[in-house]
Amino acid sequence: MRILIADDSATCRMILAGSLKKYGYDVVETSDGLQAWVELSKPGAPQIAILDWIMPKLDGVELIRKVREAKTERPPYIIMLTGKSETKDIIAGLDAGANDYLIKPFDPNELRARIQVGKRMVELQDALFKTNEQLNYQATHDPLTGLYNRRAILEILDHQFFHMGIGDSVLCAGICDIDHFKNINDTYGHQTGDDVLCKLSRILEQITGKSDSIGRIGGEEFLIITTASSEEEMSARFERYRTQIAETRLMTRSGALSISVSIGVASSIEKNSVDELLAAADAALYDAKNLGRNRVITRT
Ligand code: GH3
Ligand code: MG
Ligand code: MG
Repeated sequence: MRILIADDSATCRMILAGSLKKYGYDVVETSDGLQAWVELSKPGAPQIAILDWIMPKLDGVELIRKVREAKTERPPYIIMLTGKSETKDIIAGLDAGANDYLIKPFDPNELRARIQVGKRMVELQDALFKTNEQLNYQATHDPLTGLYNRRAILEILDHQFFHMGIGDSVLCAGICDIDHFKNINDTYGHQTGDDVLCKLSRILEQITGKSDSIGRIGGEEFLIITTASSEEEMSARFERYRTQIAETRLMTRSGALSISVSIGVASSIEKNSVDELLAAADAALYDAKNLGRNRVITRT
């Protein structure tokens, strides 16, 4: 684990760094508060910081306030190590956001023990952060295909719809449904059906643009969100997606299979809500199925 030391006294830094290295920590040294702020703002910054109070450019307490205001996902554990020993100083340091406060001259064993407390806090915070990330991923992704799940993709659509500015490009929603998917399950089994869903998801990721979003909104139904400069461009793009899907052989446990999809497309033009947009795309999909499948139908 890396520890930042900020102290304007070279002697203090040397003694402190010597102790920390002996305990197996990697040390980053800075001689003023501003430099310390730069180090703590870097990606992968030290997760424990030992700060002096009185330093040039930015003092320890000001630095702590800045760090706490930044509200980063992994804030450092901060120990103030200072000659200021009055109770009111300790209170001010802790109030500013220090996790711990030690008075110089320090007892190396006490420092080691206090850093150990910090290390436990940081490890706990890291574990919590990772669990949160996992939970967030699980809450927003479909476990089979790894695409956004229904809730997440609809949230993205909502967000994009409400943040559309006047004169911006057109927001487009395409609902893409595999044709006669039930036949694949019936002929080759459910697991092969799952393979098809996964392979189609990878193809969708490959053929759609970087700024497009894709989610699985139902069993064999996907929502593609994209933007275009016109409805003509939108229809042409979804037509290209459809063709590419129809032309690609999907490798499954039952061998290479071909599928086709029907896509119902609608744009945000003259739509008052996301519900209207989705209803139009859904109606277009219904038409695409009725007109014989393997086609794109656009509802304006
Ligand atoms: P259409 O061309 O009209 O869309 O016909 P279809 O057979 O694709 O549509 P239908 O709605 O009749 O059947 C969809 C099938 O998708 C039925 C369901 O069992 C299957 N399905 C839904 N979710 C999954 C899944 O996660 N895995 C597999 N293997 N099949 C699924
Ligand atoms: Mg289908
Ligand atoms: Mg369906």
